[in-house]
Amino acid sequence: MSALRAQVLGIYEEKLNPEPKEEPKTAVGLTGYRLYTLDNELYLRGAQGSKQKGRESAQAQHNGDDVDYVTMERRSIKHPAPAWECLCGFAAFFWPTSLTQPKWNGVLAEVQAGGRTIYCEEGWRAERIVLSKLWVSCPIFPDAALEILRERYEVPVELL
Ligand SMILES: [Zn+2]
Repeated sequence: MSALRAQVLGIYEEKLNPEPKEEPKTAVGLTGYRLYTLDNELYLRGAQGSKQKGRESAQAQHNGDDVDYVTMERRSIKHPAPAWECLCGFAAFFWPTSLTQPKWNGVLAEVQAGGRTIYCEEGWRAERIVLSKLWVSCPIFPDAALEILRERYEVPVELL
C-alpha cells in the first residue's frame, strides 16, 4: 500500500519513502478525490479527523508528534505541509476508483489542490484543498441534511 493510499484511507503504513524528492510545486486546477465522514453536526471530517468548515480548507500544517518508525519513539515534528518523508497535507487520488467504497453516511468528495503540492504516483498531497462536488453514501439521507451540506460547502451534493 502506498503512503498516499494509507493516508487517504486513514491508515498509517510503517515504512515511508526516505528518498529526497524535488520541492513541492504550486498546483493549479489539479483535481482529486478524497473520502470524508460526517460528524453529528454534519461537518466533513477527513481521514485523520480534521474538520472541513467550508468549501476551502484551512492550510495544512504538521505541528505535533510523530512516531519514528525505526525506534518507535514519539518525536516532535514541525515543518511546512506537505513534506516528502511524511504523510502531512491534504491527500487525494487522481481517480475515485482508487478509493474504497465510502462507509454508511461517508462522503466522496471531488476536490481541487491549492498551494504547494506534492505529486505522487496515484495522486497528490496539497497545502490546501477546495471542494467541488460531494456524494453522500446513504440511500435514505434526508433532503434537509443535503440542503445543509449544499449551503455550508457551496458545492453540488448528491447521493452516491
Ligand atoms: Zn509532515
